[in-house]
Amino acid sequence: MNYVSTVRTYRLDVHGYESGGAETIERASPASGRLVSRFARGTAADCEAAIRVARNAFDQGPWPRMSGAERAAVIRRWANLVEEDKERLARIEVDEVGKPIRTARGDLDGVVDLFQFAAGLAMQVHGETFTNLGPDKTAWVHREPIGVVGMIIPWNFPAIIFAQKVPYALAAGCTVVVKPSEFTSGTALELARLGRQAGIPEGVLSVVTGYGDPVGEILVKSPEVDFVSFTGSTAVGRRIVTNSAETLKRVSVELGGKSANIVFADADLDDAIDGSLFGIFFNQGECCCSAARLLVDETIADMFVERLAARAKAMKVGDVHADDSEVGAMISENHFNKVCSYFDKGKAEGAKLLAGGEADRSGGGLFVQPTVFDYVLPSMTIFREEIFGPILSISRFKTLEEAVALANDTNYGLANTIWTKNFDTAHMVAPRLRSGTVWINTTIDNGPQTPFGGYKASGFGREMGQHGFDEFTNVKAVVARLGKRTPYYATR
Ligand code: NAD
Repeated sequence: MNYVSTVRTYRLDVHGYESGGAETIERASPASGRLVSRFARGTAADCEAAIRVARNAFDQGPWPRMSGAERAAVIRRWANLVEEDKERLARIEVDEVGKPIRTARGDLDGVVDLFQFAAGLAMQVHGETFTNLGPDKTAWVHREPIGVVGMIIPWNFPAIIFAQKVPYALAAGCTVVVKPSEFTSGTALELARLGRQAGIPEGVLSVVTGYGDPVGEILVKSPEVDFVSFTGSTAVGRRIVTNSAETLKRVSVELGGKSANIVFADADLDDAIDGSLFGIFFNQGECCCSAARLLVDETIADMFVERLAARAKAMKVGDVHADDSEVGAMISENHFNKVCSYFDKGKAEGAKLLAGGEADRSGGGLFVQPTVFDYVLPSMTIFREEIFGPILSISRFKTLEEAVALANDTNYGLANTIWTKNFDTAHMVAPRLRSGTVWINTTIDNGPQTPFGGYKASGFGREMGQHGFDEFTNVKAVVARLGKRTPYYATR
């Protein structure tokens, strides 16, 4: 490994405001235990200051009043600056998240695409006109920026989730306060700095680092924040929805998942095996749409499972700055312990361990061996709970009906995958899966155009695409009478 990490120290990023708080949060890389970043520990006063700045920029500043073309030009310049800085930003993600550099590089490519696409949306906001309301009446309906947006981001994809939210909201004309995860705040601050360099006006984008309480709590409860876009766990998502009730603000909550990966007997098996491995071990299983439950047709199951388990055992774990690293570290000691606790749960409840099942603390990191359990029943904990680590549960099915029932037998509904070469099967199964996304013969495979979000306990609201953009707008109807209005009351 040639790359050597340096310790980066960050302050809050709120225009014209200096925090009085002196406390910091120290971030050690979960892949090595070495200190890599130091963030300001944001206080309630810091978050309130950022909200004031964003409110003022929305109510009086130029950003919401600019033409779409002007906003698009700034966001495009921003995308270009990110493009030039991609490798450095990817290294920060590797240090703070503990993900392999190959994954981080892919994330940063995605970030640039998201910025570029969102820039284009700024120029496409249009409305509807109704000229069929009678000879003296006309109406138009248009979209306005929703206002000040609070954004709360998790630790697994810090840069990409920033990019799924921030440029879309800015393209719509909103102003934004971002609260990144306390574990992984570096890229949000770096991206915001590049945004200012690109020409985002004062106060339009602030970043307040710190913990969920107080920073996140204040963002959600503040009457000065019009919309909260949250990505994180289902438990915190519920709290966000409860806390938003007092001010009746709109919220979008992108939450956890327990996605199924259904392999039919007629699938291209090489593709399906590679996709199944990618589905669970990509980003070391710390992915909301990880395909954590593999459902495989019992007629091919023995052969499929044997080949898959052999590949899982050969995956390269650790050394996250090396180009060939495939599985990174768990985000924190607590999370590492939680993920490892499922080894015993799986075995105790009767699942058969085929690969992994062990922790790996090599190089001071919090690694977990890629783990495969077979003969997992829906009653087992590892079938039901979001583990958020590299642990795959395999169950077998006899019929298409049974496959659909197993896939839907979860509280979550984020994404599911189908592997089949039969067009009829794919078309019949996709609409029956209760999830916001269905992939066919591919997995964890989005574009900036495709909306992403959940059904059931995976939350509501959409990110990306036109639907994601629309979340950051309000719809206004303007109705006008033409000429002299017919009196409603008798004139006296
Ligand atoms: P988390 O819910 O613990 O934290 C997410 C963010 O919320 C962090 O910034 C945290 O500081 C903040 N937060 C914590 N308590 C808060 C409170 N009371 N009020 C406001 N903010 C608060 O989630 P995490 O552990 O960072 O991320 C992992 C979870 O995120 C997993 O469940 C995963 O499935 C989910 N996730 C979902 C998506 C999606 O698009 N659906 C994407 C990525 C991650």
